[in-house]
Amino acid sequence: MNSQNDEWLKKKIWEQEVKKWTSRLNQVKINTEEWHKIYRAYQQSSVWAEKRKQILSRANGRCEGCGVIVVSNSLLDIHHLNYYRVGGNEKMDDLKALCTSCHKKADRKRDNQTDERHRSNHYQNRLRGFALRKYGEEWLYYHDEQEVEIEFITFLYKKHCEECGFDFDPHFDPETDLDFLQFWDSVLDGDD
Ligand SMILES: [Zn+2]
Repeated sequence: MNSQNDEWLKKKIWEQEVKKWTSRLNQVKINTEEWHKIYRAYQQSSVWAEKRKQILSRANGRCEGCGVIVVSNSLLDIHHLNYYRVGGNEKMDDLKALCTSCHKKADRKRDNQTDERHRSNHYQNRLRGFALRKYGEEWLYYHDEQEVEIEFITFLYKKHCEECGFDFDPHFDPETDLDFLQFWDSVLDGDD
């Protein structure tokens, strides 16, 4: 086999592995017992080993939280800032190499935020329903969850504006538009 085929094969195997882990993790709810079981298995996988290597190389022997220099890379944990792309699609920005002390703090911070985000099962079910209808079964594999979430809220927001007789500006910025963000909060609270 020539090296081009070799590269192609490696890429295919990688894609298959990522697909396996992302779908296994996405089939169960985040942070549940079952999820942790699969997540621990993922952390033993070749996909995770590669991710870990990339982040450790970026960290270059320092904690990316407090900057402390470590004597060995084994003292650095790779922390997920979020689980949107967990299973092999994590971007470099989703992960950080942290010392034990920073890791503990970071976990607490993330889990508080995740609780906030996941406080409503009703909200999650609606979001999943929207994504399934629009993109089909494998939506999480091919689409960024955050982007789909914004699409979902925009869809509701447009309907809400129409019903209330407000002007809907199709060019609004979902990251800064206060009316939109306030509306988003009300959907999260289940008020809409
Ligand atoms: Zn640190």
